[in-house]
Amino acid sequence: EKLYGVSRWSKGYFSIGSKGDLLATPDHHQPNLTLNIQEIVEEMTETGIKFPAVIRFHDILRSQVEMLNTTFRRVIADAEYTGQYFGVFPIKVNQMREVVEEIVNAGEKFNYGLEAGSKPELMAALAYNTNKDSLTILNGYKDEEYFRLALLGQQIGRNIIIVIEKFNELKTLVQIAKEMGVTPVIGLRSKLMVKGKGKWKNSSGERAKFGLSYVEMLHAVDYLKQEGFASSIQLLHFHIGSQLTDIRSIKDAIQEASMVYMNLVKYGVPLQYIDVGGGLAVDYDGSQSTNNSSCNYSTEEYILDIVYGIKQTCDLNDIPHPNIVSESGRAITAHHSCVVAKVIGEIKPNTTQYDTSVAADEHILITNMREITQELTSENYQEMYNDLVSIKEQTVSAFNLGVLSLKDMAKMETLYWQTLEQINQHLIGEEFVPEQLMKIPSLLSSQYLVNFSVFQSTIDSWAIKQVLPIVPINRLSEKPTKIASLVDITCDSDGKIDHFIEANGSSNTLPLHELKDGEDYHIGIFLTGAYQDVMGDMHNLFGRLNEVHIYSYDDDPKDYYIEEVVKGSAMGDVLSTMQYSSEILANNIKKEIDKRVSKGQIKPRVGVQLTDFYENCLSSYTYLTDDKERRNRW
Ligand code: PLP
Repeated sequence: EKLYGVSRWSKGYFSIGSKGDLLATPDHHQPNLTLNIQEIVEEMTETGIKFPAVIRFHDILRSQVEMLNTTFRRVIADAEYTGQYFGVFPIKVNQMREVVEEIVNAGEKFNYGLEAGSKPELMAALAYNTNKDSLTILNGYKDEEYFRLALLGQQIGRNIIIVIEKFNELKTLVQIAKEMGVTPVIGLRSKLMVKGKGKWKNSSGERAKFGLSYVEMLHAVDYLKQEGFASSIQLLHFHIGSQLTDIRSIKDAIQEASMVYMNLVKYGVPLQYIDVGGGLAVDYDGSQSTNNSSCNYSTEEYILDIVYGIKQTCDLNDIPHPNIVSESGRAITAHHSCVVAKVIGEIKPNTTQYDTSVAADEHILITNMREITQELTSENYQEMYNDLVSIKEQTVSAFNLGVLSLKDMAKMETLYWQTLEQINQHLIGEEFVPEQLMKIPSLLSSQYLVNFSVFQSTIDSWAIKQVLPIVPINRLSEKPTKIASLVDITCDSDGKIDHFIEANGSSNTLPLHELKDGEDYHIGIFLTGAYQDVMGDMHNLFGRLNEVHIYSYDDDPKDYYIEEVVKGSAMGDVLSTMQYSSEILANNIKKEIDKRVSKGQIKPRVGVQLTDFYENCLSSYTYLTDDKERRNRW
C-alpha cells in the first residue's frame, strides 16, 4: 500500500486485498461490493481476450456523476442559494459512445447534460442528450454549419446554449438565426484576467485563445440588443484551464467572473446562468500538492468555493443567484478505466559478463579498473566512483583511437557494472548519499518491457510528463525486490515511462516483483479514463486496445459481469486508416509467393501456408501475442 499509494489516489475505488490482489469497489453506494481485478484478468485470459486491454468500470462513472451532482445540490441547499445546478459532461474528455450513454443515463435524475466543442461532438450530443430538462452547452470555434446544427437542436426541443468564443461568430449566428426563424440562447465566454495554475494555465488571461475581452463583451451585448436578440444572452462562461492544481486560482476566477456577471446584470443583460467551465483536478499521484499531477483541494472544497463565492457577490449587490453550470470532465471519467498490460521481459544493464581475469598483454587502463573493484571499501567508495568514471572515459577515448580492442572493452564494461553494483551495496541504508551517487540505483535498475504503447494508452505521460498510478495486479502481499522503469513495444526511445509516484525514495523507478518463468505478470495503469482513453495516437500503427465493460450485479455484492467486449484494432484495420487495402496487400504477397512457387523456389504446400498466414495476420491484434498462440495458428 505504501509503495503504490493506492488509497491516496483511488478515491476509495481501488484497494489491496488481504491476499495481495488488487480490488475494485466501483459503487460508492455498495461499499461491500468488491471485485477482484486479478480474477477479472484471469477470466479475460480464459475467454481469449488479449492484453493489453482496457477495463472499464461503468459503476465508477455512475458514482462520479452522482457524487458531483449530489455534492452541488447539498452545498446549494446548505448555503440557501436560490439558483440550481446544471452540470454538463464535456464529450471531448471521453467521446466513447458507451461512456457518454452511461453518463447521460446516470445523470438523468439530476438533469445533467452534455457539452460539445466541435461539430462531430455536437452531432453526438444532439442524438444522445435527450432529457428535455438538461442543457447542451456548445463551445469551440463555430462556422455556419455548426450554428445550423445548434439551431436544429433547439427546434427539436434541446436546451441548446451557444457559447460565443469570438466576436465575429455573432454576426454569422444572427444571420442564420434570422434565416431559420429561431431565437437562439447565447452564452458569452469571458477571457478572464486571472490565470490558472498548472499545465493548461494559458486557457485564460489576455493571450487566451478563446473568449471575449471586456471591450468585446460590451460590444457583443450592444450588437445583440441592436439586432433584437437582447433576451438571448442568458449565460456567462469562463474556463481557465484543465487540471487546476491550486484552489487559489479557482477562488480568484470565481471572484472575477461573479463581478463580470453582476456588472452585466446591472447593464440590463438577462443572464440566468454562470458556467464555471472545467478544471476540477484529479490527484493522480495522491500527494495533495500543487504539482502538475495533483491538486491541493477536494471536490467538496471546489464546490463550496463556487457556490459561496457567487452567492457573496450577488448578495452584496442585490441581484438574484444565477443557476450554476460546470463542465467537469477529468474528475468524472479519470477513475473509471484502467489499462492492463503484461510485462513480457526484463532489460538489465549488466546481465552478460565477460571473463575479466588478468591477461599478460592487458592495457594498464583495464588493470586500473580491476584495482578499483578490488580496493573498494565503505570508506572510499565516493573516491573510487570518481576514479571509475574517469577511467571509463579514458577507455572509450583509447578505443576510439584504436589503442584498445573489443575484448578490452568487454572487460571494461563488465568491471564497470560490477563496481557500480558494489558501490550500490554500500549505499543501501546510508543516511547520507552524496548527490553524484544518487543516480546509481536507477542506473542499475532494470527496464521492464511491457506489451503496450505509451503513445496509444498513456499519451500525457509522454507529452506532459503526467504521472499515472501504476500497480501490479497481484502479488501485492509479496515484497517487490526489483526497481524498474517501464518501456513499451514501440520502436521509439521515447516509448517509456520513467516517472512514477514517489515510492522507494525515487520517482524514476517503480518497485516491482521478479518475473517468474511461466507465470504472467500484469500491471495496471490507472486513472486513464479522462483524455488518455481517446487521445492516443497511431504511432507504429498500434491501434485501439481490446476493451471489457464491467458491471456489478445489484443483488450479489461480490459478483460482476462483463457486459460488453469491444475488439481492439486488427492489423488490417490500422493499415486501412493509412489508405492501405487489405485485399491489395494480400494480393501483392500472394503474387510474389505464386511466382516463387512456379519457379520451384517454394513448395506449393508451403506457398499456401505462407499466403494463409499473411491473410490471417490482417485480422489479428496489432500488439504482441504469445509465441505459443502464434505457433498454433501457424
Ligand atoms: N470545458 C472547456 C471549455 C474545456 O476546454 C475543457 C477542457 O479543457 C473542459 C470543459 C473540461 O475540463 P476538465 O477535464 O478539466 O474538467
